Amino acid sequence: MNADIILGGGGLASSLIALAVRAVRPKARILILDRAAGPSDSHTWSFHGPDIAPEWHVRLGPALVGNWPDQEVRFPAHARRLRAGYSSMGSEGLARLRDKAGIETLWSSEIATLGRDRAVLRDGTELTAPAILDGRGAQPGPHLVTGFQKFVGIEIECDAPHGIPRPVIMDATVPQQDGYRFIYVLPFTPTRVLIEDTRYSDGAGLSDNELAAEAMDYAASRGWRGQEVRRERGILPIALAQDAAGFWNDHADGPVPIGLRAGLFHPVTGYSLPVAVQVADLIADTQPMTTEAIRARLRSFAQRRAREDRFLRLLNRMLFRGCPGPERYRLLERFYRLPEPLIERFYAGRLTWADRARIVTGKPPIPIRAALPCLPEAPLLKGET
Ligand SMILES: Cc1cc2nc3c(=O)[nH]c(=O)nc-3n(C[C@H](O)[C@H](O)[C@H](O)COP(=O)(O)OP(=O)(O)OC[C@H]3O[C@@H](n4cnc5c(N)ncnc54)[C@H](O)[C@@H]3O)c2cc1C
Repeated sequence: MNADIILGGGGLASSLIALAVRAVRPKARILILDRAAGPSDSHTWSFHGPDIAPEWHVRLGPALVGNWPDQEVRFPAHARRLRAGYSSMGSEGLARLRDKAGIETLWSSEIATLGRDRAVLRDGTELTAPAILDGRGAQPGPHLVTGFQKFVGIEIECDAPHGIPRPVIMDATVPQQDGYRFIYVLPFTPTRVLIEDTRYSDGAGLSDNELAAEAMDYAASRGWRGQEVRRERGILPIALAQDAAGFWNDHADGPVPIGLRAGLFHPVTGYSLPVAVQVADLIADTQPMTTEAIRARLRSFAQRRAREDRFLRLLNRMLFRGCPGPERYRLLERFYRLPEPLIERFYAGRLTWADRARIVTGKPPIPIRAALPCLPEAPLLKGET
């Protein structure tokens, strides 16, 4: 065997699992295979303070590129500062953390196939381990029906301080276009700011130029002028219907899927860091560390999680199917009037039954006749709209 565990793909899910395994198994040989030529600073992953446990804050601390004590949201009829902290982690820093922990990464390693005990690279190299995980990113399949969160972000180094003290995770005071639209602003330094134009849309079509121009217009309207230093784009899945049991039946053999590939993301935000941390802890705690033992535990975790997330998928169906695009922001505006601890549990994926009741009580966010067709999930999985 070449390693104790091989992780296909060196993205977010694999990295967090590798770090968690290293923490409990100092002598384990952990091998990551990624097709990229080497670490890059192209990606940042953000999360809310309460999303992860204190020990993870300590573990990821050296990889953070931004860390703020609070955040805010803005809507046409309501703005609010939220007391939860917000942090952003950079991909280069995460790769450095792996190196420092003695986790081996083979760069420029395009995987051809993964099996339950081996990985074969495009150049024919074969590597073996008793545990093989597949974290090569999202792969569309029949067990997940999604809408889309699309965005283009431009990071600029401003000629003068921008004056934004904290992240604005949603500024929905902008004209509503292509579904629910908001601008996301991260002030990395007093002069550096990321401005991201985001849309919750029915279709996956994304015009980079149009969204980039909108982000720049937003910057100009705030008086921020300067040089573009980085750009990011994403089309994230927003879950409308999911059949986790069907997915895991299709993956009863071979490597264990992790991360977006296993549908492990927050149904409403498309973000995966909070659940990826939970999965990392679960896998690090699995004995023996074999493909089958990990599959058994992750399968039951993922299926339970998908059951718990039913409510969030229903909210998504109401947003995407029950509400005309220009009106969608009203659901979010209403949500952000709720108590802060509930909002924190929502992002962390820990809603209680009382929270769920609280979200849907009061004046219905959409008319009952529009909400009723959104209730069942199964028709979407059968291809009915
Ligand atoms: C621009 C952008 C911003 C995002 N921001 C956030 C955020 O702020 N917070 C958050 O929680 N989520 C965020 N997400 C959503 C989601 O959490 C990320 O997409 C996350 O990186 C998914 O993790 P993953 O490990 O499943 O896949 P990835 O992190 O995408 O990792 C997949 C890895 O597999 C490698 N790979 C693929 N195919 C092969 C192959 N054949 N051989 C070898 N290697 C291969 C890729 O090079 C890549 O490194 C963002 C997504 C995008 C696209």
